[in-house]
Amino acid sequence: MTSFFGAIADDFTGATDLAGLLARSGVQVSLRIGVPQHPPANTAPLEIIALKSRTAPVEEALAETLAALDWLCQAGATRFFWKYCSTFDSTPHGNIGPVAEALMKALGIDQTIYCPAFPENGRSIFMGNLFVGEQPLAESPMKDHPLTPMRDSNLMRLLKPQVTRPVGLANRQIVAKGADALRHKLAQLQADGVAHVIIDAVANEDLYIIADACSVMTLLTGGSAVAMPLPELWLKQGHLTKHDTANKHRADAGPAIILSGSCSAMTNRQVAAYLSQGHPGFRLDPLDLVENGTSAVFDWLSAQALAATPIIYATAAPDIVRAAQVKLGAERAGALIEAGLAECAVKARELGFRRFVVAGGETSGAVTKALGITRLDIGAEIAPGVPWCFAETAGHKVAITLKSGNFGAENFFERALEVLAA
Ligand code: ADP
Repeated sequence: MTSFFGAIADDFTGATDLAGLLARSGVQVSLRIGVPQHPPANTAPLEIIALKSRTAPVEEALAETLAALDWLCQAGATRFFWKYCSTFDSTPHGNIGPVAEALMKALGIDQTIYCPAFPENGRSIFMGNLFVGEQPLAESPMKDHPLTPMRDSNLMRLLKPQVTRPVGLANRQIVAKGADALRHKLAQLQADGVAHVIIDAVANEDLYIIADACSVMTLLTGGSAVAMPLPELWLKQGHLTKHDTANKHRADAGPAIILSGSCSAMTNRQVAAYLSQGHPGFRLDPLDLVENGTSAVFDWLSAQALAATPIIYATAAPDIVRAAQVKLGAERAGALIEAGLAECAVKARELGFRRFVVAGGETSGAVTKALGITRLDIGAEIAPGVPWCFAETAGHKVAITLKSGNFGAENFFERALEVLAA
């Protein structure tokens, strides 16, 4: 089937988040990890390419994005989406703005929109200012992000130094008037030479209005939520047809294992809740890994009953993580855990596990890489933005879900297993 929609995401769990929301429409969604090395074959109507370009040097991000665009065009896509984080993670140098401008140039268009709002997850935009829950972005924990500290909440001011052409705003008052008013505003801004339009959104309904007004644009940019209503519109317009992917692979599901390398507050609660249900668990400690390698965890895993759904976790409270980081350095401690969990995933596959629940963005990247997974077909959603995915690894069909740190409720792990068993 030829593709209709091609999205490029600047990180891995962001891509699965987008994939999960698009799959709500019942249209087939496929996610590729990195730019595929082969020309398109067996493509889905909605294709997503996950890059790891959020904090890469600008030139590298541009080259990767344009290669992804080229592949999506070959796949037949005619509508495109540039997906970045709902907290607009970027620096004055990029990569959100430069990538958007490069895509606009390659596609020969002179206007696009920016809407990182995700009201279901507490990200809203009002008068061009981004809020995380009730806090302005620059007062949220994002102000202390190690790589992309967000010290301004105003999206126009954040975007301006990243682009060469004028930046403008379509505010909530316009959006609240409906799709026609928004279309009119966009046309007016275009006539004034405004290439980059921030659009306010504070509620889910706003996203439907924005999608309606913008569904004919060649390129949209934003968080995952603004893309969510698009497939429904395109179904109505006859560009797409439904396909029941959620049920397709269910027969292949087998024993499950949980691998958690996220240390977010929510993942700590999720691991504690799961252990309190009596599931067997093994805590991976970077200090122990450096001394003894993975033999202890491998022995433990080999002794577990497949049906017990064990959990291997490095998830720990901030003081424990800090203590390990002081001894080993943050980078080395993180790399040891990522490699350890990735090896555990491969061992689990050898032992017959066929469902993998993975917590942590970086951890997810390491695990899928170790399993040699390059394509994910998207299934049922477990929590907003976290779907089950189906993939092939070493000739086995497996189900895998990849959860970034703060996503999901406290019972996420139990819920994940229920959703696939249902
Ligand atoms: P999140 O999505 O919550 O940010 P990530 O997997 O992206 O999760 O990042 C968590 C990082 O913390 C990973 O690099 C992981 O290896 C590291 N890490 C996990 N557990 C520990 C630990 N106990 N000590 C030190 N670093 C850890």
